[in-house]
Order: sequence, then C-alpha cells, then structure tokens
Amino acid sequence: MSETTNGKSPARALRYTQITDSAYANNAINHETDTLVYALGGLGEIGKNMYCFEHDDEIIIVDCGVMFPEDELLGVDYVIPDYTYLVKNQSKIKALIITHGHEDHIGGIPFFLQSIRLKEIYAPRFAKALIEKKLEEHRLSRSCKIIEINSDSRVRTKYFNVGFFDTVHSIPDSLGVLINTPNGRIVETGDFKFDLTPVGTNSDYQKMAYIGQVGVTLLMSDSTNSSVPGSSISEKAVAKAIMMQMKKTPGRLLVSTFASNVLRLNQILEAAVACDRKVAVFGRSMENVCEIGRKMGVIKIPESSFISGNELNTLPANRICIVCTGSQGEPMAALSRIAKGTHRFIKIIPGDTVLFSSNPIPGNGVSVGGVINLLTRVGANVITNSPLTSFHTTGHASVEEQKLMLNLIKPKYFMPNHGEYKMLVQHSATAQETGVPEDRCFICSNGDIIVLRNEECFLANERVQTDAIYVDGNDASGLSTSVIKDRKILAENGLVAVIVTIDSRYNKILCRPSIVSRGFVFIKDNQTLLKEAELVVYEALKKKMMQRTTFGELKNCIRSSLEPFLFKKTNRNPIVIPVILNQKAAIAEIQSKTKNSRTRN
Ligand SMILES: [Zn+2]
Ligand SMILES: [Zn+2]
Repeated sequence: MSETTNGKSPARALRYTQITDSAYANNAINHETDTLVYALGGLGEIGKNMYCFEHDDEIIIVDCGVMFPEDELLGVDYVIPDYTYLVKNQSKIKALIITHGHEDHIGGIPFFLQSIRLKEIYAPRFAKALIEKKLEEHRLSRSCKIIEINSDSRVRTKYFNVGFFDTVHSIPDSLGVLINTPNGRIVETGDFKFDLTPVGTNSDYQKMAYIGQVGVTLLMSDSTNSSVPGSSISEKAVAKAIMMQMKKTPGRLLVSTFASNVLRLNQILEAAVACDRKVAVFGRSMENVCEIGRKMGVIKIPESSFISGNELNTLPANRICIVCTGSQGEPMAALSRIAKGTHRFIKIIPGDTVLFSSNPIPGNGVSVGGVINLLTRVGANVITNSPLTSFHTTGHASVEEQKLMLNLIKPKYFMPNHGEYKMLVQHSATAQETGVPEDRCFICSNGDIIVLRNEECFLANERVQTDAIYVDGNDASGLSTSVIKDRKILAENGLVAVIVTIDSRYNKILCRPSIVSRGFVFIKDNQTLLKEAELVVYEALKKKMMQRTTFGELKNCIRSSLEPFLFKKTNRNPIVIPVILNQKAAIAEIQSKTKNSRTRN
C-alpha cells in the first residue's frame, strides 16, 4: 500500500532499465486507436482491486474493491482507490463488471456510487445478492441496477466484447473475464484456484483451453499464493476432515470460518446434520450469508435443523453445533465475545470444542492468537488448521495451479495482478518458467498504463493518477494523509495545549501561558516540567511581543519554543496546540452578545 500512497514504486527502477532510450521515445499513447489497461487498485497490495480497460471514448471496469487498513491507520475503516480519473472521465464509463462477491472486489461499490453515476453493474449470481444487500444497507438500492451474469453472458459495447468462464474460488459463482478489444484479447482471471474435486461449480477447463487456442495477447492473473509451492488441497478434503471432527467431538462443537465461504458453511452444516446435531448461527455477516445461501439453494439443510440462541439449553451438548464469525480474531465478532464471556447466548462450558476452519490472514495472527488464549483459559479445547489436519484450504492458486492457468491461456504478454510486489515478481518468474519471455512480463504499479496496439503490448510513458483514500465511516471523500499523521502522533506522543491571554491593543500578555496535556506525560509527576515549559513559552512570547506581531506569528512562536524544549526533556514530539485568547476580541464578543440579546428582547 505504501507504494500507492507515496507515489514511488519499487517496480519503477526495474522497468526503466528494461526499456532502452529509443524504445522509450516510442511509448507515447495514441488515445484514439490504442487500448489502455491500468489498475486503480490491486497491484502491489492485496485489496481494493479495480482494473480498467480504455479505448477511445469507452472505459470498462472490472471489480470495485476495498482494502482493510493496517493497524497503523488509526480509526480508518476502509481504504479505497482514488476515483478522480474516473470521475473526470465519467461519460466514458460503459460498464462495471464484478468477478465475484469478496470485499476486495465489491466493497468499494457504495463509495464508487457516491462519486460516479452508474446505471448498471454486471455481477454473477452470488455477488449480485451480496451487492444488493450492501446497497440496501447504504440506502443506494435505487441508484443502480445489478444485472446477473454467468459464464454464458456477454457484455458488449462499441469497442469491447466481454465474455466469461467459470473458475473455482472460496465463494460461489466466481468468473474469469475475457475482453475482446480492437487491439487484442485480454484475460483477467479474477481470483481462482484449480480443484479437481470441487464442492461447487468446476473450472471451465475446455473454455479456457479454447480461449488459449484462439489466442490471448495479455493475461492478468491472481498472484496471491505465487510463493506457495505445489497445489492447494481440495475443498472435498476439508469437508471430510470437518465431518471426522464433528463425529469424534463429545460435547458442543463451535466452528468459526469466513462468512463469505458459503460452500464451506454448507459443508459444516451438512456434517452437523449427518451427526444428528442442531445448528445455531451467530454473527451478522454469517447470518446474512446463511439467509442468502438458503434463498439461493446453496445451503440445503432443512429449516428444522436450525435452532435459536434461546433453544441452546434445551438440547444435550453433543447435539449442538454452533457456527460463528470471528475466525480472524475480529474484536466485535461473535467468537471474540464468546471468548470474553460477553456473548448474549453462549458461555464456554467444560467439554466445548472450538474449531477454526480458517487460517489467519497475514497481519491477523496476533488477534487470532489472543482469542485462542482466551478460549483456552475459559476451558475450551481449541483446534486450528495445520498442514496435517486440513480444516481449511485457500481459495487461491498455488504455483502449480498458476502454471496450469498460464498453460491453458498461453498468453503473448503477462501481467501478474492481485498481489503484493514480491508476489507479482514471483508470479512473473513462474510465467517465465512456462515460456513467457522476461521482456513480455510486466510488473506494474497502480496507475501504470499498459498499451495494447495491434496485439503487442508496451508500458506507456504516462500514468493515471492513483492514490489510497482512507475512509472513516461512510464518507467516500476520505481523510487526508495529514489527519492520519496527526492521529499517529496523538497515539504515540499525546497532545499539549498552550493557553495564553493577550491584549492586542497594548501588545501585552495578560495572563501567563498555562499548559494542558493529554496522553503526553503523567501530569502529577511532571509538575516541574510543565511549569518550566510554561516559563519557556512565556519568555519567548514576551520577546516576540516587544514588536508588533500577528496571531499566526505568536502561534508559531509558541510551537517553535515549546517543541524543542519538550523533545529535549522527554524525547517525545507531542502535537502542540496554541490557544490565544485576545481580551479585546473577548470583550467585543461579550458586547455584541449583550447587544444581540437586548435587541431580541
Ligand atoms: Zn476472492
Ligand atoms: Zn480477491
């Protein structure tokens, strides 16, 4: 993510050495006849996927995701791409196509629709249901129509003809995208894996091979697991492992998994029913997905197998299975509340088993560990996934599966996407092993433009504006980086406010500065320090006010005298807020208030 925020990309140095000066001079775009490919999000990061395809006066967009912030982005709920370029070129946008219903592909839609008027979104069945729910929650249902697509659908515009193929992923109805452009054919795989014994729809091997046979100029392919050797295990193996565990667990079994993986959820529910257990589902996203899954026929267990929280105590422990959110240690999710003993219906009792049908996403390890500790402390037997247990499998292709995709599509040029920088590099190395020449692999950053011209590709000598927008709450306009910076300083160093009263008529300090601090030092133990600090500011201000001066200058004087002093004494740099009260202004305000109240009377 830092790549997008600071505008520097490590890829740059590498690429510029690849392009010779003479070739570089030819990298100008012909905006009328070239086809342009660029990402506003998804390169150099896992999250906020948004890939754009532009030709003349048309743009089609594939996916519209969010990214969840790292811990250092204090108070930030989501990170979304900067939509400025698309806002400026709004009239060109002909279609938004969604590959599947994960948040890093659909989570940005409510924010996107706040900035851009869009009549239709094309999405496969399960993603459609999730988007509709999302738009309902944001009261945006009326603003846009969601059109269902499947592997037989076509989306046609003046220049683009878009087709689809089925892929296997950790959510039902995932599609790969084939884009026919005036300058060549592009395949964007979407998130995929290959599973020879999948639980839902299988990958469309024949169609992929056929697309490869006809010829593909550029392949963009999922890089998430490009450093994981071999092939991922099948979802069927996971189902089997869960069934075995369900059978041998003597008491209650609590299972936590990703809410969006409705096929897994169904496996868990079916295993419970087979073992004569009733099921209770907890956590808002899990309940939502369960409802959608039942409506769509993905979850098939009968209504009578579900029980509510109130009915839990009416059954023996070995007849109960509880499915809940919180597999990533999210503090507000059901499992965390159960672990802390604050859940409305469930308290851990001796003999309870908690099964994590998930792996911690990188970065969540600490919070997951915290929940496991709490659960163990209150007496639960906690089982997590390991290479020996198969309680979880990834939704993304490992190296051998990535090779299979490259072999089926046989692209002329390759651009790894959906991954952090090292994953893109690794995926590019894999592509080279399968025969794509090194100079035909593009490791790009968000905003870089790949130009398609007569079935050849090159990197353009211009870029599209990209950035990361930090969203706090639901406002798509975003927080500026300076707000985030301030929050970081506040969190680490605290705040010091200096209040001083002056009389601007006589250029005099009426009241010596007084200092108030929060989160900086323990005030009781540091009275002398704060007194000294007040004196430092007082002396500096006295000196400054010997000549005529402005409020701005006085504020600067407070900061420039106080900040070095505090740093010298404490080795910390708190935020310093000068508050200058002007007696003249104060008196004038009082006068105007009394005048106003008199006229009102
Ligand atoms: Zn996905
Ligand atoms: Zn994804």
